[in-house]
Amino acid sequence: MRLCTYNLDGKQLPAIVQNETVIIPSLDPRFPGLDSMQSLIDAGPEMLATLAEWTSVAPDDCIRVYDQSLICAPIPVPRQNIICLGWNYAEHAIESAQSRQRDVKLPEHPIVFTKAVGSVNGPYDNVICDSAVTSELDWEVELAIIIGRKARKLSRENALEYVFGYTVINDLSARDLQFRHKQYFIGKSLDGACPMGPVITTADEIGDPQNLQLRSWVNGVLKQDSSTYFQIFDCAEIIHSLSQSMTLYSGDIIATGTPVGVGFARQPPEFLAAGDLVECEVSGIGRLKNRITAA
Ligand code: MG
Repeated sequence: MRLCTYNLDGKQLPAIVQNETVIIPSLDPRFPGLDSMQSLIDAGPEMLATLAEWTSVAPDDCIRVYDQSLICAPIPVPRQNIICLGWNYAEHAIESAQSRQRDVKLPEHPIVFTKAVGSVNGPYDNVICDSAVTSELDWEVELAIIIGRKARKLSRENALEYVFGYTVINDLSARDLQFRHKQYFIGKSLDGACPMGPVITTADEIGDPQNLQLRSWVNGVLKQDSSTYFQIFDCAEIIHSLSQSMTLYSGDIIATGTPVGVGFARQPPEFLAAGDLVECEVSGIGRLKNRITAA
């Protein structure tokens, strides 16, 4: 199933995407509690199965046209920061190290940082880039995991059972801030610097998360083109590793790293500017389309 969050008269409601329509369960008196994506995730796999059957009999007044301008980030206000992997594709680690004249050393353990909740942005919304803050805004297409239920000390073998679904994020990064402040957090957390969506594809529909194509474009020019097959730490390993020391909760978002082809490592370096259209796509999920605009 493909799920989105739809803006209906100012309410951000979870909906099932089917063909050119969205089907909104909370408009049916049977599902009054499904008033957010978080509540839908919390309702568990039984509810997903119920909804899968319900879509074929959903009343007409639960159905709306899929209108890009009304699609929000699938989880508009996450309960905690977006957890992110750094240097999780070898070629990206190599390009990053070389561009900074550092020795290449692939990580032996996942490199983890977070993006602030306020960075979340819609899949088709503008990204405001304040030139007084950064002149080095960069793109990063990533597969993101949405956790389905409370998870603690999972084995690698069981880890994927705790996944609700997957989405696309663009881990937009202000490289000047990222490098100047040493820690990644500020440079990764600009308001609006985490476009997400357009849907969550449920885990059953994705199947193997290690065989998904990731691509990004700037103004129609292909910049990144890789596969999750090349992740250093795969999705099961990431969840296993994080859950050893911290409890993961339903609705938690884990961005699994970006492949080779980011802007700062190019010769000469490339960055996003007002007017640019940046697109990020993961197969089986969809494509983000965000215009960079001046503050
Ligand atoms: Mg990243």
